Amino acid sequence: MNWKRWSFLIGCVVAMNGGASLRAQIRQNPPAMGIPDNPALVGDTLPLALEAQHWLVDLVKINTTNPPGNEQQAAKYIAGILAKERVTAEVLDLTPGRSAVVARLRSSAVPDPSKALLLVAHMDVVGVDRSKWTVDPFGGVVEDGYLYGRGSVDDKAMLAANLAAFIALKRGNVHLNRDVIFLATADEEQFGDASLKILIAKYWDKIAAGFAVNEGGVVVMKGDKVQYVGLQVAEKVSVNIAVTTKGKGGHASRPTKDNPVVHLAAAVEKIGNYTAPVRLTSIVRRYFEGLSGIEDDETAKWMRVIDTPDRGDHAQRVLSDMSPMWNAMMRDTIAPTVLQAGIRPNVIPSEAKAVLNVRLLPEDTIDVLLNELNKLVNDPSVKLEVMPDSGLAAPNSSMDTEFYGLLTRVCAKEFGGVPVLPLLSTGATDSAQLRLHNVQAYGVAFPLSEEDNARVHGDDERLPLASFAKGVDLITRIATEFSVSH
Ligand SMILES: [Zn+2]
Repeated sequence: MNWKRWSFLIGCVVAMNGGASLRAQIRQNPPAMGIPDNPALVGDTLPLALEAQHWLVDLVKINTTNPPGNEQQAAKYIAGILAKERVTAEVLDLTPGRSAVVARLRSSAVPDPSKALLLVAHMDVVGVDRSKWTVDPFGGVVEDGYLYGRGSVDDKAMLAANLAAFIALKRGNVHLNRDVIFLATADEEQFGDASLKILIAKYWDKIAAGFAVNEGGVVVMKGDKVQYVGLQVAEKVSVNIAVTTKGKGGHASRPTKDNPVVHLAAAVEKIGNYTAPVRLTSIVRRYFEGLSGIEDDETAKWMRVIDTPDRGDHAQRVLSDMSPMWNAMMRDTIAPTVLQAGIRPNVIPSEAKAVLNVRLLPEDTIDVLLNELNKLVNDPSVKLEVMPDSGLAAPNSSMDTEFYGLLTRVCAKEFGGVPVLPLLSTGATDSAQLRLHNVQAYGVAFPLSEEDNARVHGDDERLPLASFAKGVDLITRIATEFSVSH
């Protein structure tokens, strides 16, 4: 018996044991109050989750570190899974070695893209620092109820869960009231020439939809309990600004006042200490309003007065200090991220550069902020320029659609009746591109502890298998309830 065979058997045993505890954990959740059960539409999804767990492990083992991405291999793997279910998937090539994969379940002979539901997730992952990992990041290691690996959470968990939900619909052989489209994208983490933007430009007719479910939400845990669910309806816009200073440069033994390093350092310090004014969007107002119902008395007190003329300013300061996420939801933020200057200890360089990563509130424009920063820096030798890789502002997804209502209801039920709040995510996702094409895209998530959340994009990224089972259940219920008539 070779090693491969052994590890396969060990994996199966772990999955089976994991299954028993998963079952117990999932069944412990009390039913949500006042939300009627609909057992006929979706039954026990646990066997499906255990099956999908194998796909997830395989997907983690396919190294799709971006760059270079190599998503084609993952796309072909997914197409193979779908072929076994008698679904023809199309592998859509973008650049050499980089592809997306799309598959469709039809509701009628003539498709109505405005009604279609898109289940979208990305296949690429960020890089790893192998020296900091305690397991092989591409080994698909399952241990103590966790799957370890780069992409085990971001975003292959949702990728495998979307695939499971899609296959459940196919196997159910049900009559659909709208087309359901499965889409696995490439190049989400770098947003380069194999990204969803390019995919849309080349293949929009194959993926056009009115609604989408994507990553980008949050399921916030307090201890081992879910505290609330945030449904992403909008996201901040990432804009990079290049800061450049120039001088004569020369021998370091005869310094002059135009040393670019000094000018750059002063500019970066001023910008780093700048705080943009608060602007509360309707989403953020609703978010704090909902959260004030479950936070401790002290925090809730500030959330309730966040918009009042007399105590608003103070409340905004207190809440900003409490949480970097809350701070970033209320204002544009600027993080200096790159500094470049100098080649020798004894040479004053003639140029010094920095990069600022700005995250704009969706309705703010970079010109206003740029103006503000130029005034602040007040140094003619310092130039601020918007870099070409910046994101585009997209409209919010509506909080009034039938689908938003359904998502709220299904998420509340899935997580024991917790509040479901609209979320302005501080990070960027593929959803902005979809929203720019009139898709009502919403971001969901699987439950993760704060510690496990911190591992995403970090070392020893891992997914609790119980969370994955919840995720499969959640996406399957969302897709089924929205696309199958009662
Ligand atoms: Zn992601």
